[in-house]
Amino acid sequence: MEYKKVILKKGKEESLKRFHPWVFSGAIHSIDEGVEEGDVVSVYASDGSLIGNGHFQVGSICVRMLTWGDAAVDDTFYDDRLAAAAGLRKSLKLMRDDNNSFRLVHGEGDFLPGLVVDVYGSTAVLQAHSPGMHFDRHKIAGALTRLPDLGIKNVYYKSETTLPYKAELEAENGYIVGGYDTDVAVENGLKFHVDWLRGQKTGFFVDQRENRLLLEHYSAGRRVLNMFCYTGGFSFYAMRGGATVVHSVDSSSKAISLTNENVNLNFPGDDRHKAFAEDAFKFLADMQRGAYDLIILDPPAFAKHKSALKNALIGYRKLNGKAFEKIAPGGVLFTFSCSQAVSREQFRLAVFSAAAQSRRKVRILHQLSQPADHPINIYHPEGEYLKGLVLYVE
Ligand code: SAH
Repeated sequence: MEYKKVILKKGKEESLKRFHPWVFSGAIHSIDEGVEEGDVVSVYASDGSLIGNGHFQVGSICVRMLTWGDAAVDDTFYDDRLAAAAGLRKSLKLMRDDNNSFRLVHGEGDFLPGLVVDVYGSTAVLQAHSPGMHFDRHKIAGALTRLPDLGIKNVYYKSETTLPYKAELEAENGYIVGGYDTDVAVENGLKFHVDWLRGQKTGFFVDQRENRLLLEHYSAGRRVLNMFCYTGGFSFYAMRGGATVVHSVDSSSKAISLTNENVNLNFPGDDRHKAFAEDAFKFLADMQRGAYDLIILDPPAFAKHKSALKNALIGYRKLNGKAFEKIAPGGVLFTFSCSQAVSREQFRLAVFSAAAQSRRKVRILHQLSQPADHPINIYHPEGEYLKGLVLYVE
């Protein structure tokens, strides 16, 4: 297969030779005439050797590599890559009667840069982050429905907010295969309404699945506060784990109404749970000291870009500072950062500063991360984003 060419400047092939899958605009010497956004291009080193093929786009990342060497992006490309991704999830035992929600494709972590696919039972939600994946959405959707064992009947395309807006692709959200059947997904035996039509990201945060399970083990006899609860994920694990009180807080009233619906699905009539549509900082400032002995802090990404890093770290310090000030003695704090721009060390330092200011005795019980269905390509450390600490506060 002959593709149009992108030729690199001298010496700029080094990171690609170490399999980092992005070509930055500054590395490019020349581009063949007529190359358009979303095209597959061949990337050549300055000495004329072929490095591989990838999707072209305009921006600071110009090519996202799909294959290395002379392997073509052929008709079975998506079938093969998706089958490999599904094989990994199968070996992780994520497809069970009591669990049908997981991430099937985590971009570069599944050698499909620019593509995210989350599965909720018979529906897959497909998110494109590059023009190439946008143009290939129908091919990808077809390949998803052909995957044996998965039983995907519906593919919902949700890329209005994830594609580079300058590309003017005018992607519309909607079903590209099938249609609505059910919006109830099962995670570790708990049921959740997943709102892929209007909800955040693909509708649910599948990345906290294992951390929620860990929380369940700490919940017996505790009064739990789930801050930034979204649709209540952590709350139901706490209830199943035997918490005496579970309070869920989110500033979005839509999220709170979904949380209440999810309580009805799993624990109808259970009056241990209450949900509050309130700002987290206000709730923490107003609440009584010692009212909770298990607190979850899972805020949205405070730093979406490196430029916001300093303020983000201040935000994490303040938020955690409030929790250290208020949590009951012998309390357990589950605290997270999903900002890719904030490193594990930086996050830990922000939490350390908050702990030091509170002058309480604090120990780290667990250091958490994203689950195995969000794999990190070792050559692409940018794929790591979720980090968490479980702390014992005396
Ligand atoms: N823990 C959730 C995911 C959290 S996503 C889960 O397991 O599914 C972050 C949430 O924080 C969003 O639902 C968003 O509405 C909420 N949020 C953002 N800013 C907030 C604020 N200032 N106060 C309370 N909630 C906020």
